[in-house]
Amino acid sequence: MIANNIQSVEKRIAEACRRAGRSREDVTLICVTKTMPVEDLQQAYDAGQRCFGENRVQEIIEKYPQLPPDVQWHMIGHLQRNKVKYLMDRAVMVHSVDSAPLAQAISREAVKAGRIMDILLEVNAAGEESKFGLGYGDVLPLIREIAPLPGIRICGLMTVAPYTEDPETNRVFFKKLRELSVDIGQRCIDNVSMHILSMGMTGDFEVAIEEGATHIRVGTAIFGQRNYPV
Ligand SMILES: *Cc1c(COP(=O)(O)O)cnc(C)c1O
Repeated sequence: MIANNIQSVEKRIAEACRRAGRSREDVTLICVTKTMPVEDLQQAYDAGQRCFGENRVQEIIEKYPQLPPDVQWHMIGHLQRNKVKYLMDRAVMVHSVDSAPLAQAISREAVKAGRIMDILLEVNAAGEESKFGLGYGDVLPLIREIAPLPGIRICGLMTVAPYTEDPETNRVFFKKLRELSVDIGQRCIDNVSMHILSMGMTGDFEVAIEEGATHIRVGTAIFGQRNYPV
């Protein structure tokens, strides 16, 4: 079941890449495994998937030792500063940085752990009240503030677009995020590259790929409906 789902997601990714004149290798599929049991993650692993996304630190802590060590864990959810330390020996990237204090906490723990943490800045692309993330105008000032911090590498931008029945309605947000990332990239700020655009979920990942997503985060299309919305 999960293997079949992955196959059909892969097919849709390939088609979106072809439409956009992009190479499949330029898009990383992150399987969003939040609330799913490790058996399901193992099935995705056995089907060849290596990038998993979780939105709660606690779930990464629980699942991490139960899966093979070559899984790459992406932290994609809102992150409390006091939990940052648990990610240092487990996660490859934090997608959801939206404040200077959080970036500082990641920097501090990364230095302590002797590693560099790749981070993305989360943008609230549609300005939704219910969502975390920065306004467009707050991204560059935050980047300038945190770029000098040791232990972190700013790699790009992330957004969670509005839930929609019609993915075309999110195209404008993906376009704007891409434009912002190009604009920031051209400023050549030390320790800042904008090579990652994490955008697109089950409802809209094809449009996101057409608009330049390098990382898509797909849960429902692979694992089915979650029992509770997180
Ligand atoms: C749950 C979640 C996803 C995946 O959503 P689906 O619609 O199930 O594909 C992607 N990104 C984030 C940040 C999430 O919390």
